[in-house]
Amino acid sequence: MKKSITIILTCLAITTWADDKLTGTVIGTEQSVDYSNTGSPSATVNTRYMAFDGDLNTFFASWERSFTWVGLDLGESHVVTRVGWSPRNDGLGPGRVVLGVFEGADSPDFMDALPLYIITEQGVIGQMSYADVNCSRGFRYVRYVGPSDARCNIAELEFYGHKGAGDNSHLAQLTNLPVVTIHIKDNIEPQDKVNQLESFVSIVSNNGAQLLTDSALTRLRGNASMSFPKKPYRIKFSSKHNVLGAPAKAKKWTLINNYGDKTLMRNQLAFELSRRLGMPYTPFCTYVDVLMNGEYKGTYQLCDQIEVQKQRVNITEMTPEDNSGEALTGGYLIEADAYAGDETSMFWSQKGTGVTIKSPEEDVITPEQNAYIENAYNFMEADWKQSLDPVTFLKHFLVGEVSGNTDTYWSVYFYKHRGNDTIYTGPVWDFDLAFDNDQRIYPVNSKSDYIYRSGGSTTGYMKTFTDQLVIKDAESRALLKSLWAKVREEGLTEDNFVAYIDEQAELLMQSQKLNFMRWDIMNTCVHQNPRTWGSYEAEVENVRSYMRTRIKWMDNKLGYIYTPPAPPESALQDMPAMTIDYSMPYQVFTITGQNAGNDINILSQGVYIIRQGTACGKVMIGL
Ligand code: CA
Repeated sequence: MKKSITIILTCLAITTWADDKLTGTVIGTEQSVDYSNTGSPSATVNTRYMAFDGDLNTFFASWERSFTWVGLDLGESHVVTRVGWSPRNDGLGPGRVVLGVFEGADSPDFMDALPLYIITEQGVIGQMSYADVNCSRGFRYVRYVGPSDARCNIAELEFYGHKGAGDNSHLAQLTNLPVVTIHIKDNIEPQDKVNQLESFVSIVSNNGAQLLTDSALTRLRGNASMSFPKKPYRIKFSSKHNVLGAPAKAKKWTLINNYGDKTLMRNQLAFELSRRLGMPYTPFCTYVDVLMNGEYKGTYQLCDQIEVQKQRVNITEMTPEDNSGEALTGGYLIEADAYAGDETSMFWSQKGTGVTIKSPEEDVITPEQNAYIENAYNFMEADWKQSLDPVTFLKHFLVGEVSGNTDTYWSVYFYKHRGNDTIYTGPVWDFDLAFDNDQRIYPVNSKSDYIYRSGGSTTGYMKTFTDQLVIKDAESRALLKSLWAKVREEGLTEDNFVAYIDEQAELLMQSQKLNFMRWDIMNTCVHQNPRTWGSYEAEVENVRSYMRTRIKWMDNKLGYIYTPPAPPESALQDMPAMTIDYSMPYQVFTITGQNAGNDINILSQGVYIIRQGTACGKVMIGL
């Protein structure tokens, strides 16, 4: 009898050992706010110690509204297995913990901190809420970072776990997406594109199994997108990485904010069109959750920086010594850009287009190089047949028009290799206003003409220039039609593109919920939104529906008749015999799926597959 009781007690002891409530020195934001004294700053009232005094009615409230925190120095490394919290006991309290973030770090400044947990539901006054932490790594310093504008306002915090350094075998993500954690020295935020702030970046991916860390410089990026409260960022790592499986090993990466794109996927969809059209280079792009200084920022797209680099714009990088002969002929990366007037390294073309020179970069480009690329651009602009590669220009055009992008000719990248005169178009970039997301051209499919001719934004001479290839030149028009026919036959159908949209929505499902908690704009028109659709799913459905119609619209516009491909050979045996209605068009395939034209009367004997409308069946000729 006595023996069995001992065993039970031992089991209990093990359970509690694994889940000890951790204690340590209280650390955190020093300045608090004294609400009872006209909200003045304080060092004695509502201090950080109140979050660990065991009293659910006392609380820590910081003087600063954001980037404030409170936590524990545990003295040595501990693996945290559980966190607990209780909101301040007042009307706003429960909501103020939503998107609060728990972090662990080895360094007291938390520069190297990794996320432990994000609170996604309202707290309960007078009660602790708990969550398990799924992070195998031990930390000496742990903290709670209040959500934006909440002044922490936390009544009580608890950390549970056990002593030990742990390991990196499974780290915490916020959702199924990788989480990019950026900590900036002195807990500040980037304010502009000029000041690059000293940072440390940690990226947890692959369901917590993979960790990338490096010091970096962080700044804002973009043009119009920079004006939104959810900011776009540019990260420059200290060394090159293939971030999140990207093809390019590079230092510079962008975090695209997609503020006005409530599907959060428009850029990726357009990049998919670019990939299917076979553009030589499509920017890498993957969805991530972003934390900055411990504060949740939203769903972003981590993308390539558009720059000269292997696996990006892969052209010869020039040096200041490349000033004559073949060396002077490239590579160059330029952008016909409505904002070119604001740039220092730019020229105005003879026909009035502002062109920014992206590479060579402004601090190293020589006058000879500057004169060369300006001359080459003018030569092309004067008569595209002299040096423009029509294939990349027209593929770029197709991405812009299929996606219905207002901005296709507001900003266009071109590049030039060393050793020949040809100027290529690309890569495609910037689609947050595409897929029916711009009230100025909405609804896109109601227009009888292309978007660049129906209210789309065009810079300088780009509209007239594009007319020359797309409208005026018969040979170029035929090429355009053949490029469209090729992508339709080889990989772009309503069904498979809608399936791609479905995949993106599934990937984004958890993350978008957090994003729209942080940015409560689902029912508000922002940027150029033509209207709101009321939910994430409805926003996505609008894009699906747009694309179903758009692909047919392009077929009609380009005079292309789409014929579905033959069914797989395996389906042949069970296939019914087909009776062809000769008053209607039909398509013939061989039994291996090769296109065999649209007239069975000219075919040699054999078994063929006929598609007519939605019907499909086999016919035997001469057997
Ligand atoms: Ca308390």
